[in-house]
Amino acid sequence: MTKENSPHNSKPAANYHRKGFGLKDVVDVELKKDYDSDLIARLRAGGNVLTVNGITIKLAEAFGFCWGVDRAVSMAYETKQHFPDRRVWITNEIIHNPVVNQNLKDMGIDFIQTRPDGSKDISPIGAGDVVILPAFGASLEELTLLDTLNCEIVDTTCPWVSRVWNRVVKYDKSDFTAVIHGKPKHEETVATASRAGTYLIVQSFEDAEWVCRYIIDGGRKSEFLKRFASGVSPGFDPDCDLIRIGVANQTTMFKGETEQIGKLFEKTMITKYGPAKIDEHFLSPGDTICDATQERQDAMLKLVEEKLDLMLVIGGFNSSNTGHLQEIAHKRGLPSYHIDGPDCLGPGNVIRHKPLESDQSQSKELFFPQSGDVIVGVTSGASTPDQVVADVLEKIFVLRA
Ligand code: SF4
Repeated sequence: MTKENSPHNSKPAANYHRKGFGLKDVVDVELKKDYDSDLIARLRAGGNVLTVNGITIKLAEAFGFCWGVDRAVSMAYETKQHFPDRRVWITNEIIHNPVVNQNLKDMGIDFIQTRPDGSKDISPIGAGDVVILPAFGASLEELTLLDTLNCEIVDTTCPWVSRVWNRVVKYDKSDFTAVIHGKPKHEETVATASRAGTYLIVQSFEDAEWVCRYIIDGGRKSEFLKRFASGVSPGFDPDCDLIRIGVANQTTMFKGETEQIGKLFEKTMITKYGPAKIDEHFLSPGDTICDATQERQDAMLKLVEEKLDLMLVIGGFNSSNTGHLQEIAHKRGLPSYHIDGPDCLGPGNVIRHKPLESDQSQSKELFFPQSGDVIVGVTSGASTPDQVVADVLEKIFVLRA
């Protein structure tokens, strides 16, 4: 499948589904039972503050399931209803949340395994099976493979992600290199890069500064290619491929950093080519941080201004947007813990959490103050159901029961 005739750029085939199956009302009861919480509903109604046993919980104004995740999970439930007799697969994970993924497994949905080299093992999928693509999308290579299997595809890719894809396709058509602010191994960035033609992935402002210095001063090509080995298109040549650039982003990156990176590249291209020629050398990313990410980050920025003793950030350990929420607490100097659910708490006063700088979770004893009133800030990533947040709060209250 080429970029021109992929399902994202042409009229979809009959076996390609990008909407639900009109069963939203049917699955809503189950979705509410699995993911909604009376406790969180009460908290929301009470101004997001609740005190129990000397522990005050302050919930961020915006947190939890976003529109795109809600839509993707609902489509997965509808798919199971719509194809009751077919084998249904999900490529890897529908979203980055262990509870949701486990529920889907319990419903009989199979998960396509990822090989050590990052490729998907599609060998068990048979003709007529149904494959659900996740909210963060799939690469063109994966779609090409699936295309050979004669299966039904249910594509839950969030429209915010598709917006970024449209942007990088536009860059490619105009012979601009896409500079993508994202994590090179994150599924969304992999999917975006697969549509980009020539691309370079920068993960941080520091990466962007390094590239901009190269654009202005030049440098050793081998050093460049070594530093960005996991984030460039095949055959990338920094001396030829950074003359016309357009910036794009993974939708869940830290908004302030994406903006800074965009401005830095614009300034660099003005310095190099002059303001009169900027349009020939630079295309702005526009506003492609999704609303949900922005709302959750803004709410977190507001919450950390309040008096808090510690902060709990709840979401899958591989959830990028959850990690960025914790970054805000970390920068504010607050003791903060990224946990993926209630199982991270206890037994006793112990927490298993993922530090910002680590890929692995680790345990910390006596994380919770043992006496006195405590104020706990709480937020959750866009793929975390309310029910998970409620289960975490129940366990926190028990610490002082
Ligand atoms: S975080 Fe944003 S881009 Fe990702 S699924 Fe939610 S709404 Fe879509």
